[in-house]
Amino acid sequence: DGSADYRARVETADLPEKVREAALREVGKLERASDASPEAGWIRTWLDTVLEMPWSTRTEDNTDLTAARAVLDADHAGLSDVKDRILEYLAVRNRRAERDLGVIGGRGSGAVLALAGPPGVGKTSLGESVARALGRRFVRVSLGGIRDEAEIRGHRRTYVGALPGRIVRALREAGSMNPVVLLDEVDKLSAGYAGDPAAALLEVLDPAQNHTFRDHYLEVDLDLSDVLFLATANVVEAIPGPLLDRMELVTLDGYTEDEKVAIARDHLLPRQRERAGLTADEVDVDPSALGRIAGEYTREAGVRQLERALAKIMRKVAVALTDDAAPVRVDAENLVRYLGRPKHTPESAERTAVPGVATGLAVTGAGGDVLFIEATSMEGDPGLTLTGQLGDVMKESAHIALSYLRANGRRLGLDPNALAGRRIHLHVPAGAVPKDGPSAGITMVTALASLASGRPVRPEFGMTGEVTLSGRVLPIGGVKQKLLAAHRAGLTEVIIPARNEPDLDDLPTEVREALTVHTLADVADVLALAL
Ligand code: ATP
Ligand code: MG
Repeated sequence: DGSADYRARVETADLPEKVREAALREVGKLERASDASPEAGWIRTWLDTVLEMPWSTRTEDNTDLTAARAVLDADHAGLSDVKDRILEYLAVRNRRAERDLGVIGGRGSGAVLALAGPPGVGKTSLGESVARALGRRFVRVSLGGIRDEAEIRGHRRTYVGALPGRIVRALREAGSMNPVVLLDEVDKLSAGYAGDPAAALLEVLDPAQNHTFRDHYLEVDLDLSDVLFLATANVVEAIPGPLLDRMELVTLDGYTEDEKVAIARDHLLPRQRERAGLTADEVDVDPSALGRIAGEYTREAGVRQLERALAKIMRKVAVALTDDAAPVRVDAENLVRYLGRPKHTPESAERTAVPGVATGLAVTGAGGDVLFIEATSMEGDPGLTLTGQLGDVMKESAHIALSYLRANGRRLGLDPNALAGRRIHLHVPAGAVPKDGPSAGITMVTALASLASGRPVRPEFGMTGEVTLSGRVLPIGGVKQKLLAAHRAGLTEVIIPARNEPDLDDLPTEVREALTVHTLADVADVLALAL
């Protein structure tokens, strides 16, 4: 394009006045610059970017909440609490939009809705669904691994190879000024040598500032107040504090086996079948097989591996199915033909067969999980060896557990010599995964007491709770995720701190009925039950 073309394009484009002025200034510079100069190149690229922005394009919102609910329901099975929260959020936003119409910076409802939970529970796809429900365009901005502020806010134009930041690119991609922008994985942002991307993001999300957001590359004000920002995260604790402050958290903890079967039947199976070019007449997967995949072939809080397993079955069927073959029906019996032998069998019984091993419940980035705490003792330097990449808080729990037993062993009926004058070793597999937090306290006491008494821990028990030096059991977080994991692992008895009892209200009935939950306040009662 020659500079005359740019002048015409800027003049006819539907640009905000300030942007047009800035663009015309640049066109003037372009007209004065020699065509082949690097400067002319930069200016043209900048003008292209400005002209590609959807300055005056807005999509019409669907404000009908019943219709929005119908879209959310059609896209995702279950999750009714989460959908309620989303609808409340949209309702408040709608009302504020009506009231504040035209007031600069007043249209957003302030807090950003953040969906937090383990992998594969539907956080990203719910974000997409919210856009559909509202009738807005959708863009995902993946923040995983971003360390440079310029990724968010753009590079200055003087920088070689300068680019606008992710927010500008997201709007360009959306083609409207009011899309749903999903800030995916805000917990994976990290502050690096080149500024703090979280600080830039804070400005993006702040309703007091975001109607005049400045990208370093674009250098003109961008009004972000009509953008609906959503965020997702696996680990809430890893979200930078100031960002978390701006967020309204909605947690997704994972699914029970029954919920997974329903999701697979209504969503994953039809989708994978279609991807493989198959029809429901040609292949069906029985609910009994779906349950078996969820229980024995995958062990996850979400449904991603389950979906992969279905994809694998569909590929195999696609290969095997000939035109005149009978329809394929995959059931619990013939499943092995498609997926091989089950990968997960309950291991608690086997692991806890020897004294000194107790089953704990933990929350990791992948959701709830069971972990086995092993204790052993030997001749040698008296003291405590800890392995398994334990964090400081977890190490302290181990010392507390040992001190508690040394001080109270006799009262608890343990051999006082079993733990005295010997080297104690406590290990938390898997050794390579870093772990921290106080919630393994009672499990450590139980493993050590089992070692001291020579009595194995009852294999059907899993437990979680912080312990104090005086043997009190203190409340911990993540109860729902942990109990879902206990259920997945085939445990039937679970010990949690007495003060966590209210958390049981969140538990799906299926899990509530399958587990006997003991709520205890004294670790002596834990030992009495589990040993
Ligand atoms: P990650 O933290 O790993 O990014 P995520 O929570 O964003 O995980 P998604 O990618 O949204 O997970 O979900 C994985 C898949 O499972 C998607 O195909 C999604 O549609 C499907 N899925 C998850 N939950 C449901 C549900 N309740 N109903 C229907 N489909 C679901
Ligand atoms: Mg995701």
